[in-house]
Order: sequence, then structure tokens, then C-alpha cells
Amino acid sequence: MLEVKGISAAYGQHPALKGASVRVGKGEIVVILGANGAGKSTLLKAISGICEGKVTGSITMNGHELVGMKPDRIVEEGIALVPEGRGIFGDLTVEENLTLGAYAQRAKDAEEVNLDRVYTLFPKLRERRRQVARTMSGGEQQMVAIGRAMMSNPAVLTLDEPSLGLSPLLSKELFSSLRAVRDTGIGILLVEQNAKASLAIADRGYLLENTQVVHEDTAANLAKDPAVQKAYLGGAAAKPGAGKGMPAPAPSAPRPAKGPSPSEIAAQAMARMAPPAKPAAAPAPTPTPQPEPRAHPPQRAVSQPAPVPPARIDTADLVARASQMASRRGQPPAAPKPGPMPAPTKPARAASPPRPVMPDLTGQSDRLRDMLQEIETAAARARDRSRNRTRQP
Ligand code: ATP
Repeated sequence: MLEVKGISAAYGQHPALKGASVRVGKGEIVVILGANGAGKSTLLKAISGICEGKVTGSITMNGHELVGMKPDRIVEEGIALVPEGRGIFGDLTVEENLTLGAYAQRAKDAEEVNLDRVYTLFPKLRERRRQVARTMSGGEQQMVAIGRAMMSNPAVLTLDEPSLGLSPLLSKELFSSLRAVRDTGIGILLVEQNAKASLAIADRGYLLENTQVVHEDTAANLAKDPAVQKAYLGGAAAKPGAGKGMPAPAPSAPRPAKGPSPSEIAAQAMARMAPPAKPAAAPAPTPTPQPEPRAHPPQRAVSQPAPVPPARIDTADLVARASQMASRRGQPPAAPKPGPMPAPTKPARAASPPRPVMPDLTGQSDRLRDMLQEIETAAARARDRSRNRTRQP
């Protein structure tokens, strides 16, 4: 199915992969183990056509050459990437995020069936389909990311460190979900730092060291290999570089999110829209990387009324909204622009207390508007309360 042969990648003068060969068959879980900087993410990005560096060599899917193909075409060939950091749209609901994954032509006709398959694999997502994604737990968000990738009806799913930042319990849940995905016949190429858990579910594995594949074996043999145990499985004599040419064990501390930003994913989705639904409603996504909303707000959606999505989700509209959200993420809401103020036609009323300024909500979701109005009302109530307190003797 997926065959990577002698692939090399370089970022300018810096080689990140040298002649790596990997293959993934139908219904097979293949794990790539390697220390930080070994080139694991570069390999997955090269397969999905989103490597920023120069890629040479051959990557074929069912005999079709992928090197040089556009990322959205690669999705049509049956490859879906779950990037490190998930890349889900925190302000959209679970179902909206999933529906965004169905933009591929190969998935359009089977959207309902695929959605049902995702909900069968991840029943929690069905229960929470109207919940805003950023209010989900880390593990649930990872399920949304995997579910969204599965909505493109892939034959091979590639995942970049999906257990990063998850608690042991959530990681366990995640790995058993991957097994269930494999059981549907999808091939899985998994980059993981959690060697023990990934080897436990994998069929085969590769060791990637310092840009090169140095070893390949069945997962069972790799798990028994003393050098692998020392380097990746916390063996008794584990020391950085203690094994035969094995890399230092990778630290488990969470790292900043990488991979395509939501706006890049939206850009890819928009590229598939023919013709674009409303040009004015879909601004060009910004190419700058967006930070992922990893922190959870203190309040979970269970205590908020769930927004009711439209009966039929319009994917083009979703993409436009997601793109807007991604490009606005991290920016202060509608700060007044610097520049000359227009001359006032009437003198300002000096006695009126300063009112909170409502940001420009044009194009924002109703949800955001409601939230801001609630904040305004709460602030007004707080002001009244403190006024009443100061009047009391
Ligand atoms: P980690 O486990 O830390 O994510 P990795 O094995 O996934 O590491 P890559 O992210 O593939 O490693 O990086 C391989 C090498 O390429 C590293 O030296 C890294 O600094 C470099 N690199 C990765 N992306 C870029 C980029 N966009 N520009 C320049 N260098 C890059």
C-alpha cells in the first residue's frame, strides 16, 4: 500500500532524512521510534506533501508516486495525517470539526457512513457532538483529531506523537482506539515517544536515528531487543547513547505543538471547494503558524447550554469560519486602530461613566457574541453591586 523508498529531506543545507525506507500494509500498525530531531516528523510531513524542506526519493501509494503531489491530492490518494498538536478548531463543535475532515472528494459521498464509523469507534464523540472542541479533555481532543482524519476515508492514517501531553490513562484509551482503527482495515504509521505502549499495539517498527533508518523488525522483536530496551523502554542500564548506536532516550516533557496550523488545514480544505461558496465570506488564511489552544478554560461545556448546529452542516461555511477563527486566534478582539480620530460633532457627555467597548463582531459566531454580552451584563451587575455597597452606611 504505502511504500517509502530511499527518501531524503533537507531544510536548506541541513539534512533531516537520508535515504529512509518504510512501508505500511493494509490493516497494519507500524511505529517509528527515534530520539528528538531524528527526522520522524519530517518523514510524516514528506509523506503528506507538507515538508517545508526539499524532498527526494520515492513515496508511492498503491503504485502512485506522491513526491511532488499537492497535499490535497495526497489526501485523495488515501493518506491522512493527524499532526502533532492535533490542529483541531477549538471554537467549533466536535461534529463541525469532524465534518471539516470530509472535504476530500473520495469522502464526500460517504460522509454519513464515515461519521457513523467515527462515532462507533469513539462513542464519546457522539455523546459530545455538540460540545465546543476546546472544552474537551486532551484525550477527547485527540479523538476528534483522529476522527477528523478518518472522515477523509483514508487507507493509511499517519499520526505524529498522538499521546504527547496525555495522562497515562488517556494514552491507554488512545492506543486501544488506534487498535480499533486498525481493525477496520486502515494502515497506521505511528510516530511515538511512548515506545512501550506503541510497540504493544504495533505489528512492525523502525528505528530512526540521526536522519537514517538503522533497524527494522517486528514489534515483538523490537520490544525484546536489549538495545531498544536500553534506549527507549527505560531498561536498567539506560543511559543516553548506551545501546549499540542507539539514540538517547527521548524526554517525555510536552513540547510546543507543530504540524500544519488550523489555517493551513483550512487552506487545504478550501483548495478542494469547487467553486468556492462565498468568496467574500472566506478570507485568505494567514500562512503564519497559529498556536494551538491547548489550555482548557476553567469551565467545561457541560455547564453551558450546548449550541444547536444547523440541521445540515455546510462545509464551505465551516471552512470559512474556521479560517477566520484561525487567523484571528491570538489577536486581541478588535482593538481601536491607531490614527487620527474624527472630529466630534457634539461635545462628549462628561458625566457618563466609561462603557465597555463591544468589539467588532462582524463575521464572528453567535456563540462569541452571546459570551461577550454575558460578560458585559455581568460587569454591569458587578458595577451596580459595588455602587450599592458604597452607598450603604
Ligand atoms: P521530535 O521528536 O523532536 O519532533 P523529529 O524526529 O520529529 O524530532 P524533525 O522534526 O523531523 O525531528 O526534525 C529533524 C531535523 O530537522 C531537526 O534537526 C530539526 O531541527 C530540523 N527541522 C525540522 N523542521 C525544520 C524546518 N521547518 N526548518 C529547518 N529545520 C527543520
